[in-house]
Amino acid sequence: MSKEKLAILGSTGSIGTQALEILKEYSDRFEISALSAFNNYRLLAIQANRFKPETIVLVNPDHRTEFERLLSYKPSEILFGKESLEDYAVSGEYDLLLNSLVGFAGFMSTYHALKRDKKVALANKESLVVGGELLSKIDAFKQGKLIPVDSEHSAMLQCLTGENHQDISRIIITASGGPFKDYTLKQMETVTVESALKHPNWNMGAKITIDSSTMMNKGLEIIEAKWFFGLDVDKIVPVIHPQSIIHSIVEFIDGSSKAQMGPPDMKVPILYALTYPERVDYPNETLDYRNRYQLEFSPVDLLRFPCLKLAIEAAKEGGFAPAILNAANEIAVERFLKKEIRYIDIAKIIETSLETIAGDKLSGPEALLTIDEETRRFANTLLK
Ligand code: MG
Repeated sequence: MSKEKLAILGSTGSIGTQALEILKEYSDRFEISALSAFNNYRLLAIQANRFKPETIVLVNPDHRTEFERLLSYKPSEILFGKESLEDYAVSGEYDLLLNSLVGFAGFMSTYHALKRDKKVALANKESLVVGGELLSKIDAFKQGKLIPVDSEHSAMLQCLTGENHQDISRIIITASGGPFKDYTLKQMETVTVESALKHPNWNMGAKITIDSSTMMNKGLEIIEAKWFFGLDVDKIVPVIHPQSIIHSIVEFIDGSSKAQMGPPDMKVPILYALTYPERVDYPNETLDYRNRYQLEFSPVDLLRFPCLKLAIEAAKEGGFAPAILNAANEIAVERFLKKEIRYIDIAKIIETSLETIAGDKLSGPEALLTIDEETRRFANTLLK
């Protein structure tokens, strides 16, 4: 069997590094055709020297010379600049693309890879959040070539394998609730950057950790689930499950439910996405059911988590609303991390952006780009 050529976009991030950790064990199955990083050229060089991809993309060219000096082999190409990620998706030689880019920048790579009929393991939420409508029209998408890496959607896919989608009655998407699940509205007013960056269960990047604390992350995941499984937004129900052991539940029309469970560890969904529909051997940790476990569930309070409420509304509205939601949120989170705005201002910036900005016709990726840029400019002017 010839090896599958795997390109990893965003290889120095949390998903990328965990994927490479797994891939050390699977050099007989995968050949790494490309690795990419935005800034972290030192780690990128270490990864490249270990896996020897033909193509390396370093988006920020500031440390170009130093980066090239750190390489111990000669790749076929080293690309720099923001456009090179898209260029690679358009013309690179790969069979499977692991898209773990952060933010809307990742959409174009997913789009082009699917257009070329390639498989995409998707860890970039924005691809579907912003561009779900466009992606869902591509043949490769309809043939199931877009495979989720996110733990919740991986859980849904695993529960749905072997089932008919018409038989779904609802999907329960679980949420840890983040560090502020028990905070009052008053306490939310005083949340600091430092406290928001501490997630109780999952170890992730800064943007997604903040999104997780505001529950915007769950909102984005509801939009993703809508597209992944072709469901009405009302059929996707968020529920707080603080232990993060059940990663989601699918309820069927006959009253039966299937849940996927395991310790919170992204390596499980990463591995499943890379080898789907097969399962392969890997020493991931499992639950020891001889221990006493408490599995709790509680409803989500949309009043205390306005970001989630806005996301659900945007999901229902469709069109440009999810793109505006996403861009405004990215800017608001960035500004919160820079301590320019308060924690509770994140939702205000998103809400004002959704009320103010309107798109024309969702004709293609360019229309999304325009709305994305317009929203970012606008969201940056608010609460100054
Ligand atoms: Mg998730």
